[in-house]
Amino acid sequence: NGNVIDGKAVAAKIREETAAKVAELKAKYGKVPGLAVVIVGERKDSQTYVRMKKKACEEVGIASFGADLPDTATQDEVLAVVAGFNAHPDVHGILVQLPLPKHIDEQAVLGAISVEKDVDGFHPLNIGRLAMKGREPLFTPCTPLGCMVLLERCGIPIKGKRAVVVGRSNIVGMPAALLLNKRDAAVTVVHSATPKADAEAMCRQADIIIAAAGQAQLVRGSWVKPGAAVIDVGTNPIDDKTKASGYRLVGDAHFEECKAVAGAITPVPGGVGPMTIAILLRNTADSGERFLTGTVKVSSKPQRKGLARL
Ligand code: NAD
Repeated sequence: NGNVIDGKAVAAKIREETAAKVAELKAKYGKVPGLAVVIVGERKDSQTYVRMKKKACEEVGIASFGADLPDTATQDEVLAVVAGFNAHPDVHGILVQLPLPKHIDEQAVLGAISVEKDVDGFHPLNIGRLAMKGREPLFTPCTPLGCMVLLERCGIPIKGKRAVVVGRSNIVGMPAALLLNKRDAAVTVVHSATPKADAEAMCRQADIIIAAAGQAQLVRGSWVKPGAAVIDVGTNPIDDKTKASGYRLVGDAHFEECKAVAGAITPVPGGVGPMTIAILLRNTADSGERFLTGTVKVSSKPQRKGLARL
């Protein structure tokens, strides 16, 4: 297992570091960072993720707040909940669990979150800063940042290397490509309009492949340059009659094939997955620290008023 990256271990280390920061803030200011999680509707997977996030907060001493809205909630109702948390002095991070029901404009809701509390990093201002040279966002999306932290902590160089990102979603592929670019990789993005043979040829040139297509075992061993790093974001359920649940999770890379060629590879589960929540906790603790030290002040209209201050 020499080339398999242990995402659980790296995530545990980040949680430990975060717990230490939270304890330090509590000792110094008598307050802890707080995370508000907004969920709309009854999707089982979303509810599971939200439960995991709240439990993870407890484990590192972050206070968690929640709002559970029904499927029938209107956009104005969701915006009102967000505005409430924007103004709440004990909330330093706000996360809206995606996807939202179809009748709600996701971008309007994400854009209404205070930039200073946007721990998921999906606010257009934070994404814009991620894209710009010489600028840094206050928060970077958790899953793509988790991929970078894995690379960095495993000693895999990024600067000057060739990277291919498979997928260009707003929450994973696109920010992952922006992050790699910021760290001086030469970045290629392939997506659903890219002919498979082209995607394969481009991946074969890459020192780093980030697979985030949501397609089970899309990236085969033949796509991987010997020694390259494969970071597999995909979590796809496939039938498995040997499991009590009837399914198991596989990544967007064919693990056994790619492992035989790659210099390093993340497993699914146990690779990128645990990093997402660990980074969310870290983002929240960082935000709490900014608020408690007075580096960022609460503002109910931060997306206008806060701009110059960031
Ligand atoms: P998405 O469906 O929003 O986007 C998929 C992207 O892949 C699109 O840009 C699409 O163009 C591209 N794509 C689809 N088929 C392709 C193909 N054959 N070749 C190349 N590109 C292709 O998905 P997402 O939200 O970005 O998530 C991607 C995967 O990552 C999913 O399996 C999801 O479950 C998983 N995920 C995991 C975590 C985690 O914490 N581990 C977090 C978010 C998403």
